[in-house]
Amino acid sequence: VKRSQAEISASRDELAQMHTTLLDSSAALERVALTDALTGLGNRHALTKKMEQCLSKGAEQRRGLCVQLLDLDFFKQINDKHGHLAGDAVLREVALRLTTTLPANTAIGRWGGEEFILLFEQVTLADAQILAEKVRLAIASSPVIFETQVINISTSIGIASNRDLNAHSTDPLLAAADEALYRAKDNGRNRVEVANT
Ligand code: GH3
Ligand code: MG
Ligand code: MG
Repeated sequence: VKRSQAEISASRDELAQMHTTLLDSSAALERVALTDALTGLGNRHALTKKMEQCLSKGAEQRRGLCVQLLDLDFFKQINDKHGHLAGDAVLREVALRLTTTLPANTAIGRWGGEEFILLFEQVTLADAQILAEKVRLAIASSPVIFETQVINISTSIGIASNRDLNAHSTDPLLAAADEALYRAKDNGRNRVEVANT
């Protein structure tokens, strides 16, 4: 069966159309896989990938990377006192305060539960501490209003930087940030602590 030139070009158009649709849906799937549904921030998977990208370069090209782990204080009490929906509203409001407070190139993610992660590239430890303090204040200085409830919130923050720790992979960097975070909890919460080198 011989096909006309018109038929051939019509099926070629159809194939091109299908190809575009396929690319669109795989991009949409990728977006879903990397996004936290509650807050719209990047999820743990997305931020882990980003951290790995920053750390994988050779020594002379490797960029300075500062990781900050945030854990909301007494979040279980917020859920218990105001309800799970109020807790969800707090998580969304915290995400909003993070995105409006931090420079546009900051990678911001929901690490899990009531924990968030911030990645700063090429930022000195001193500047990272200033930014962390800004974030701490943005979260603690005004309550979240949910329906008629006034909910006071605060966060503890642990900071670690790859240069200071000579860390070339995510695990030691995260462990150091986590250790600093738990020191912030121990020292009274609503505060920032830096990893020991
Ligand atoms: P600390 O100051 O020591 O961090 O105390 P905390 O109460 O924040 O810590 P804990 O780990 O005991 O509580 C975390 C709570 O976060 C428990 C869990 O039910 C709640 N949580 C985790 N994910 C979500 C969520 O998506 N929505 C809501 N509303 N709550 C969540
Ligand atoms: Mg926690
Ligand atoms: Mg907590």
